Amino acid sequence: MPVLLILSLLLAGRARAVLPPSNILTPSSVMWIAAHPDDESIAAPLLGKWCRQEHVRCAFVILTRGEGGTCLRSDGCQPDIASVRSAEAGSASQYFGATSILLTYPNTAGVDKPDWRSASGDRPDVVTSVAHYIEAFHPSLVLTFDPRHGTTCHPDHMETGAIVLDAVKLLSYEPDLFLLETRVTFAFDPLVIHFAPAVGGLQRFDGNEILTSSQTSAWSEITQDMARHPSQFDGSWLAAIQNVPASDRAVYIARAKSILAVQVPGCQ
Ligand SMILES: [Zn+2]
Repeated sequence: MPVLLILSLLLAGRARAVLPPSNILTPSSVMWIAAHPDDESIAAPLLGKWCRQEHVRCAFVILTRGEGGTCLRSDGCQPDIASVRSAEAGSASQYFGATSILLTYPNTAGVDKPDWRSASGDRPDVVTSVAHYIEAFHPSLVLTFDPRHGTTCHPDHMETGAIVLDAVKLLSYEPDLFLLETRVTFAFDPLVIHFAPAVGGLQRFDGNEILTSSQTSAWSEITQDMARHPSQFDGSWLAAIQNVPASDRAVYIARAKSILAVQVPGCQ
């Protein structure tokens, strides 16, 4: 084998060895757009890195106040679940140093597609409204759900992704639109949460990366976030997150333009 080839192979191996574990670049500003006040928990390792460690300008746009959720707080959810979850949304966005934009579209029970697009009273059209918030904050990167699976197959998540795809067409500029391609499934009694990529070849953020902001793994940003949503997550949820095997601790994203051209398994 020629010396030059050996040398280049050695250098290639060396370059691979020093590559960071994740292949995701840090944007200059980020807008997370979701359906429910606790949805960011799935993306929390990556949002923690961007918003907390790298001090990127961040905003969370949440379309509903999550009034369809249950109440796991031992002292109840007074005066009502929407108020409690709105406060939790504020607390979580504060943790990430993110601007919080909490809208009031109705939270569905998770069975039917939400009817957010039809005009209701003086409520603004949801696509125009989301476009307005993106335009005003002007993020370089927008992250939302993939409308084909919504990570958990919740119809509110899927419709949120579809609305954002329509909203970016109305903008005066083109943000980097990314879709969350982590799939999350649950088993109960005891609660087990399974995280997996929607397809192969995605951009993968390794949740085992230690964040300098907290000196803990990026994965622990999920439990930090969940602790700020006590109406939705009790000790069994925190334990389930801690029980996820290290090899599965990751957040998967993909640029919308490329992943939408690929067949990704949807929901039944
Ligand atoms: Zn949700």
